Amino acid sequence: MNGGLYVLALPLPGGATATVGALGRLRLEAGVHLYVGSARRGLWQRVARHLRRDKPRRWHVDALSTHPGLGRPWALLLPADPRAECALAAEVGRWVEARGGTPGPRGFGASDCACSTHLWRVDRAEPAELARALGRTEAPPGFAALRARGTWRPLRGCPGRWVRPGLGPAPDALLGPVAATAWRTDGDPALVAPVEGGGLVSWLRADGVLHTLGDAGGFARKLADLGLAGAA
Ligand SMILES: [Zn+2]
Repeated sequence: MNGGLYVLALPLPGGATATVGALGRLRLEAGVHLYVGSARRGLWQRVARHLRRDKPRRWHVDALSTHPGLGRPWALLLPADPRAECALAAEVGRWVEARGGTPGPRGFGASDCACSTHLWRVDRAEPAELARALGRTEAPPGFAALRARGTWRPLRGCPGRWVRPGLGPAPDALLGPVAATAWRTDGDPALVAPVEGGGLVSWLRADGVLHTLGDAGGFARKLADLGLAGAA
């Protein structure tokens, strides 16, 4: 995946107090905090960084993505023109406010644009619902089409699952320009893409992407292993 847009969802069930660069000490209410950003290149690498726990602080949002009170974060990856970041921020803002949510602190994630903020709070949000609301619902290729594309080796001891030998390509090279969701896990962040007849679980490693493909049973089992059953 080259450049693109993303929405990072940061559940803070107990709210949070955090010191955020030049914005100072902020108090954030309980809820899911949605942050809109873009990457001119390396969209999946950027999102993987946001989902990792351990990293040096660089952006405003790092104070939330490393917060000890954080629930399980996820991100919607939207392969699209990264220059549309502020338009997407406005769209997410309207979606949040229609659901009784509120804009976040003024200037958050918006130091170099004219928006009042790139952060919002809403009581609850789930990725498929948000992707639908943003009109990013184009269907990815189905299990059979993905299975026929390139080489897949059966995963030993793991019926109904296959691995693509070696690393890469970027997820959108397999899935096309569709919205996909990545989750924090105990290991590398995992991009999880349900498709007709199964689904893809792609590990976003520091050195590249490791793709695994499952049929309906294999994919469901893997989601359960990851504690994501019903979440994707
Ligand atoms: Zn903006």
